[in-house]
Amino acid sequence: MNTEPINPNETPQPEEFGIGRLLRDAASLIKGMAVTLGYLLRPSRIVTRPYPENRDTLKFPQAFRGEVVMPHDEQGEHNCTACTLCEKACPNGSISILTTKNIAGKRVLGEFVYRLSSCTLCNLCIEACPFDAIRMGHGFELSGYTRDELDRILNKREGR
Ligand code: SF4
Ligand code: SF4
Repeated sequence: MNTEPINPNETPQPEEFGIGRLLRDAASLIKGMAVTLGYLLRPSRIVTRPYPENRDTLKFPQAFRGEVVMPHDEQGEHNCTACTLCEKACPNGSISILTTKNIAGKRVLGEFVYRLSSCTLCNLCIEACPFDAIRMGHGFELSGYTRDELDRILNKREGR
């Protein structure tokens, strides 16, 4: 092992060309070609997906983080109580909970504003929610031409 101290003022020199380097480069090339040959001989090992034709049949691991979504039941209801814990947990300010009052005068969720453009998919908002009202979806085509296109209202209608 080289125990000489490193001189920060010394400029590193490129490795000199020689028989050793030639052999290493040749070995690396052969290794790469062997991988290619392996796939040619056994195409069943190829994992390339025919995107976008397979869009509707793609399967994702449960832990895949696409974007934050709010599940609704068949009646269009969700579990969000507008407690704002997710909004407070988000380190990027990507969530805004706008509240309103229902006909009974109770404070309820008006709009759950989610800004995908600043979301880092860290999952902190999901972990903070005590009502299991939001989760990570499996969306994967998450681009747009403007930042506004990446703003989402997650609730479909006034909840409980
Ligand atoms: S996943 Fe992270 S960054 Fe995105 S909204 Fe939730 S807390 Fe904020
Ligand atoms: S999603 Fe959960 S944490 Fe966020 S406001 Fe609704 S109930 Fe509260």
